[in-house]
Amino acid sequence: MPTKIEVLATLQLVDQSLRAKTRAVAEGEGRVAALEEAVSAQTAAANAVRVELAALGVRQRDLEGRLTAAEAKMKDRRMRMTRIRNDKELGLARREVDLLKEEIGTLETELMAVMEQVEGATAKLAGLAAELARLAAERDREASELRETLARLSSEIERERATRSELVQTIDGDLRRKYEMIFSRRGGLAVVEVRGGICQGCRMRVPPQLFNQIQRNAEVILCPSCQRILYATRDPCLGSEADASVERSVGSAEAVPRPAKPARQN
Ligand SMILES: [Zn+2]
Repeated sequence: MPTKIEVLATLQLVDQSLRAKTRAVAEGEGRVAALEEAVSAQTAAANAVRVELAALGVRQRDLEGRLTAAEAKMKDRRMRMTRIRNDKELGLARREVDLLKEEIGTLETELMAVMEQVEGATAKLAGLAAELARLAAERDREASELRETLARLSSEIERERATRSELVQTIDGDLRRKYEMIFSRRGGLAVVEVRGGICQGCRMRVPPQLFNQIQRNAEVILCPSCQRILYATRDPCLGSEADASVERSVGSAEAVPRPAKPARQN
């Protein structure tokens, strides 16, 4: 029959395993969610560039239309000039052709600028589309990895949860709450072995007067420095000389009355 501290040590193994598995699932979910968000952001950015390109296209067609019209008009005026015999009319026609030349020059400059913008936006869209494809592929890969992780771990998680509830039923409620509190506050390590007189949770030396009590694994004895529940393994191979010597004295220690002021809490 294991002592309550030994049951807690077993419960901790189950809890650590559950915690690692639950974390693996949560991390997978987190990665998929982050990639999903990146895909959305990238899609929005690509759509914004598409809108910009559509507006530039409208502007380009408008400029092209106006340019064609101005060029046609100039050609027509030049044709007319050949038929003009009057100096005054010729002067006016020349003036009109000059103005048309100026207009055509301005339109060409504007059109060039718009075409450059179209080129830039097209390149930007290609870059965004490539990045979007990469992110979507990564998202799909992570999602399938997550499905695999879930398939692999969910039955284990279920089994461990069942083991956990069985173990928990044998533990007193107050003790269980104390253990759970330490487990969550102390990084998933609530029950720690004392090896060679050293607490394996914080590496501090445990006062020797606590050794006998710790060896029995019967009482909740907290490490004076890290406040974790101290535990002794029954396997002497795992202990050092110090543990082993106490191990040998356990039989007689049972009969020894407890110290007047042990640092133990229930
Ligand atoms: Zn400690």
